Amino acid sequence: MRVLLVEDEPRLSAQIRSALEAAGFAVDAVADGLEAWHCGRSEPYDAVILDLGLPGMDGLSLLRRWRSEAVAFPVIVLTARAGWTERVEGIDAGADDYLPKPFRMEELLARVRALIRRAHGFSAAELVCGDLRLDTRLARVTLNGEAIPLTAHEFKILAYLMHHPGAVVSRTELIEHIYAQDFDRDSNTIEVFIARLRRKLGAQRIETVRGLGYRLFAGHGADA
Ligand code: CA
Repeated sequence: MRVLLVEDEPRLSAQIRSALEAAGFAVDAVADGLEAWHCGRSEPYDAVILDLGLPGMDGLSLLRRWRSEAVAFPVIVLTARAGWTERVEGIDAGADDYLPKPFRMEELLARVRALIRRAHGFSAAELVCGDLRLDTRLARVTLNGEAIPLTAHEFKILAYLMHHPGAVVSRTELIEHIYAQDFDRDSNTIEVFIARLRRKLGAQRIETVRGLGYRLFAGHGADA
């Protein structure tokens, strides 16, 4: 899952970024509203964390502009101003959630995870696909109740597939959602990660749909 972080306070931005990365997210961090607007129009983020006071373009104008352009990713707004009028303005501008500064990093992460889950129609913190379970809070995967150790990239790919059960996900789509923009993206590595996931989860778990991409299989006759 890939997150756009829009925050102009360097120290806070670095803290949020490292917390997100440690939790298994790919992160693009920008400090300028106009730059964020361009990123949001061109990249398929799974969620956006948006500060309101920004150089270039303020957060509310940016959010209104995205929404008027039908950019639909979930957005959580951060602001030092905790007044109710700002919250109403933010939500009216198209924010999906709101967190006043200062906040606990754990709360921001929990809200981002919940936003992404809800955007895909899941309400529980644990994603279940047959006997495969992914706990989004702990970034932990179990198969038949047994913990499966995954590398960061394997986890990112599996998390994306588990948010899209039964759907065919192309290699390009995986690349766009597991790597940050400044990452050296090599589409061949996706195949390597998929092969490793198959070794760990069973060969049938991830189906190759020729010419289209990959599909997560629920297994044991359950509907994906
Ligand atoms: Ca700011």
